[in-house]
Amino acid sequence: MNLGIPRGVQDILPDETPFWHLIENTARNLFEKYNYEEIRTPIFEFTELFIKGTGETTDIVMKEMYTFQDKKGRSLTLRPEGTPGVIRAYLMNKIYATTPIWKVYYIGPMFRYERPQAGRYRQFHQLGVEVLGRKDPYIDFEIINLAIEFLKTLELENLEVEINSLGCTKCRPAYREALKNYFSQYKDILSPIDQERLERNPLRILDSKDEKIIPLKENAPQPLDFLCDDCKNHFERVLNYMNEADLSFKISPKLVRGLDYYTRTVFEITTTSLGAQNAVVGGGRYDNLVETYGGPSTPGLGFALGIERLILLLKQQNKIKIERPPLIFIAIEKEKHVKKAMEIAKSLRTNYRVEMGSPEESLRTQLKWADKLNSDYVIFVNQGIENNILKIKNFKTGEEKEIKIEDIKELQHVVL
Ligand code: AMP
Repeated sequence: MNLGIPRGVQDILPDETPFWHLIENTARNLFEKYNYEEIRTPIFEFTELFIKGTGETTDIVMKEMYTFQDKKGRSLTLRPEGTPGVIRAYLMNKIYATTPIWKVYYIGPMFRYERPQAGRYRQFHQLGVEVLGRKDPYIDFEIINLAIEFLKTLELENLEVEINSLGCTKCRPAYREALKNYFSQYKDILSPIDQERLERNPLRILDSKDEKIIPLKENAPQPLDFLCDDCKNHFERVLNYMNEADLSFKISPKLVRGLDYYTRTVFEITTTSLGAQNAVVGGGRYDNLVETYGGPSTPGLGFALGIERLILLLKQQNKIKIERPPLIFIAIEKEKHVKKAMEIAKSLRTNYRVEMGSPEESLRTQLKWADKLNSDYVIFVNQGIENNILKIKNFKTGEEKEIKIEDIKELQHVVL
């Protein structure tokens, strides 16, 4: 059989998993302290969830979803992003009835049929937070600050925060109309997909990666020029908090993000170190999404961060030193020594990694294993234990020493 793996997916091998643990543990630690709780939603959902939420004219829904029929002919989709599943869970579990402010985070795989390249995969992992039930601009600032604090905890450098506001149901129609008028002049050069977007959702043309469209975006109307007073005020308040907290940012009037549900604040955290795939975090406010799914009017907001991109950055900036505790190999001479060997191993495991040999094998074979496993020390459990004595060998230097069994807990102080 010719073993292979689909394009855009990858194994995370044991020499990589420590990076993942570090990121996941740092996230859990920090988010829990900001009073978020973890949620785990299914990896596949009904396709309709994403069509309605993420948006039927987005690139994600039009081109990138892994959609299939199950054996009963139902259309299912591997989740391309985390927010729709979280909102579905909020509604199906009637969380709004008991928990007016709900703060959750998630960590898990997402799937998009995109062109794979460095930092862009078909199965990738996101770590995200969502807040439901708060409409005040302070919380917009707080989630941006949380994303920054998380990246700073990992000591990442060269980050830039870009912010924009997309307005609300009150001011969006005028902006939409302006965009429609603008792009209508170029109708003939729009691709069939962008022509369809012109009618249904002209905002999405601003995400177009079509080379003929990119220069046209330059002079397209910008959402900030169409904000109603409430949206303007909200945006100013968010920026005010950013200034108060001394967080630097850039207003990016062209930032629209690739998902349909955003209202008001949108933001990205980018880095100059990743080439084309420069966005590490993306997020924003979605005040109509819960209602779109038939729920009670509930403001919401959140962000998602790509774990693979974060690891690329951390490696590039040499920010992670992965250290495992020294490895001790316990060579066991006879079956009658096993019980003592197990006790010794147990006490050593508080500070060390411990591998057991086997009395089934000769000492010579056991030492070969110790070598193959790249052990730091070997402890010999043999007749010496009858006199409470253990021989320990530094496997790197070859030095040997005898220690008393009761000193085993102090092994770190034994200099060989
Ligand atoms: P989005 O859900 O599109 O707003 O993306 C949020 C973050 O997820 C991005 O800033 C990236 O870090 C990450 N991301 C999105 N798509 C991919 C992908 N195909 N491969 C790797 N990371 C991705």
